[in-house]
Amino acid sequence: MQEGKLTFFGGVAKSGGVQVLYGKEKQAVMFDFGVEHSSLLFPKQVTLHDPVGATPGRELRQYLLSGMTAPLFELYDEEQMRGLNWAKVRSIWGDAEFPQYEQISLFISHMHTDHMALLPYANPNLPVYTNHDSYALFKGMVAGGHTADTKAKIQPCDDLSVIDLGEFTMQVVETDHNATGASGLIIDDGTHTIAYTCDWRRQGKHPEKIDRFIELCREKQIDVLITEGTRLQEDPAAEVPVQMTEDELLSRFSDIVSGAEGLVYLQMSPRDLERMANMIMIAAEQGRKVVMEASQALIWHAANEAGVRILEGHPALKEQIVVVDATVQEGMEIPYDIISLEEMAEHKDAFVYFYKFPDLAHIIELETLGSSKAKSHFIQSDYAVKLNHKDVAKFLNAYNIEGQALSNGGHAHPDAIADLIERISPKAVITLHSKFPQSQNTRGVKAYYPEKGETVSVSSIIAAAAGV
Ligand SMILES: [Zn+2]
Ligand SMILES: [Zn+2]
Repeated sequence: MQEGKLTFFGGVAKSGGVQVLYGKEKQAVMFDFGVEHSSLLFPKQVTLHDPVGATPGRELRQYLLSGMTAPLFELYDEEQMRGLNWAKVRSIWGDAEFPQYEQISLFISHMHTDHMALLPYANPNLPVYTNHDSYALFKGMVAGGHTADTKAKIQPCDDLSVIDLGEFTMQVVETDHNATGASGLIIDDGTHTIAYTCDWRRQGKHPEKIDRFIELCREKQIDVLITEGTRLQEDPAAEVPVQMTEDELLSRFSDIVSGAEGLVYLQMSPRDLERMANMIMIAAEQGRKVVMEASQALIWHAANEAGVRILEGHPALKEQIVVVDATVQEGMEIPYDIISLEEMAEHKDAFVYFYKFPDLAHIIELETLGSSKAKSHFIQSDYAVKLNHKDVAKFLNAYNIEGQALSNGGHAHPDAIADLIERISPKAVITLHSKFPQSQNTRGVKAYYPEKGETVSVSSIIAAAAGV
């Protein structure tokens, strides 16, 4: 009998890009399908300025030839690999032999690029599981042009649902992260249990979901815990700042909007649909209309059409959104009313503008036209382009706009990770999605440090932890 094994293709001593294959007998699941943040190429996405991306139409071959994704033929769309020198791909991985499975399924923990960038290149026959809200967000991202669609059939899963793959079961457990629908996994193969936290944090809107994840893991008596460690520093004694809670962040946002006399520009990630909903409502409560850049409006609309469970009954769903005409691109069908920059400039105190970098040129018209000389505010809220970005800074200076950063990140503080490890108390812990996994205080739980490309049985991880 073939025992449960883990193969680590990505996320090892790197931030992002978790690609772990767990398999037993004929069945396997690959959890997450993105690329590491520090890879040679970064998947093109509209929230990042000028990333060095793969060549359009050649993405998959470039990801495979640079070792950025697992060298497992069956995961990919054959059409997009046609002509690829597969022997070369294998040689990148030292011609290593990887375990063979009859069926590999894919689990996507959340819709951040470092976890899902390969989805558009997935084999159409690959079963793909993801949380229902992540699925809705993906639909939104496709509509808004944030990602290409996938030919693979995604099976949306309810929170806490258990998927039975025959050799093992996996339970989808929502956590809390700044991408809507983020969920971890609890795998049970009858002999061993493995838990994967996904990217997570305690400072978000739902720390109770982290507590619930911990409780479920305690009940299951987890053997191997896999957690993220994004915020770990090289020096384990380094002070890591504590981030504000989501409630605090929203209340500061509300204060800024209520005190603002001019326009409020807001730069946030539309993949955090819950923050978006809460900020829409805060704007409405302060008597301001929400104006959006077109791709964000499309994400918001299409995700909610697909049904975002965490927003069921949220008052923001009833709010009327308007879209800036200058942001509408050819082929976009906008299901909202349209507004021009000139109209906005006439009533600067009437709007919160969900703006998208690099549309800074809009500021020229918005700040110069219209009669009001009231000071505008520019809020950067967990967005890849920061206030000190030279182009942003230039515009804020030129128009005397007040810049404010309202960010709390999506990742757990190292102390919160130590606490989670201690409470789950697994036989061994693996920290992925981190440049410095060795810096994690595991509170006495034995750590295992896999290498990229390594295959190891679950029982040998446990044996190594026990010092056998
Ligand atoms: Zn990540
Ligand atoms: Zn993430």
